[in-house]
Amino acid sequence: MAYALIEAGGTKFVLGVAGDDGRIGARARIETTTPAETLGAAVDWFRAHGGAYRALGIASFGPLDLDPASPGYGCVRRTPKPHWSGANLIAPFADAFACPVAIDTDVNGAALAEARWGAGTGHGSLLYLTVGTGVGGGFVSGGRLLAGLSHPEMGHIRMPRHAEDGGFAGCCPFHGDCLEGLAAGPAVIARWGQSLSKLGPDHPGHAIIAWYHGQALATFQAVMEPARIVLGGGVMGTPGLLERVRAEAVAAAGGYFVGDPAEVVVAPGLHGDAGLLGALALAQASG
Ligand code: ZN
Repeated sequence: MAYALIEAGGTKFVLGVAGDDGRIGARARIETTTPAETLGAAVDWFRAHGGAYRALGIASFGPLDLDPASPGYGCVRRTPKPHWSGANLIAPFADAFACPVAIDTDVNGAALAEARWGAGTGHGSLLYLTVGTGVGGGFVSGGRLLAGLSHPEMGHIRMPRHAEDGGFAGCCPFHGDCLEGLAAGPAVIARWGQSLSKLGPDHPGHAIIAWYHGQALATFQAVMEPARIVLGGGVMGTPGLLERVRAEAVAAAGGYFVGDPAEVVVAPGLHGDAGLLGALALAQASG
């Protein structure tokens, strides 16, 4: 019996169907418009592609209510994205298909997929961090995602200041100069007008952004001691940045960095299908 997969993004939903062997067959993309229209189109597509599933997995943009005891379980929490605050992502599928529906953030889905099939294969623990328009993190230990009252918000930890970055207020609407506010893609554009890869390798922005992520990694490592730290997302795709972050993390840890840095701090092992594989990992965990 197949698995139904959804990678729910702010601009598009990617749908897929995977067989028992985890191979993704049919797939489609639909535009993210309103919940009624987009979720309705997704239900129609899954009906047209078999209609009987072992489980359905949703790896979604957030923030999400993930407390099973909450009346809002599976709903998008307050978001600046028009129409989607309060949207229930589970109900349309639970109503249409007689199968378990699993939901988590896209970041947690990617963490689980990297732990099972990517850079974390064969290791007991993995931290996945994505640095793009925001910063998000998911931690897997013993095959299970770290979960508290909600999903982690690792991008919003408070940060020390780089010595040459005193004039920038940060651009997180909630905290100003948290990690995301200082070192995600929009913070790079706000300071220097271009992405890091367009600024050129000698621009001081590379060292500053790498320093912030190095500080953050040293903090995460002290708390979780992951066997693998996978750095994904568009900003981390900047040539040379991962190596700089790794060196800064080792320096910031001051002798407390456990493991070989070149083996611990790595690029993602999964590429094109990472989002749908995240949804598959969530579906398999439930059904
Ligand atoms: Zn913040």
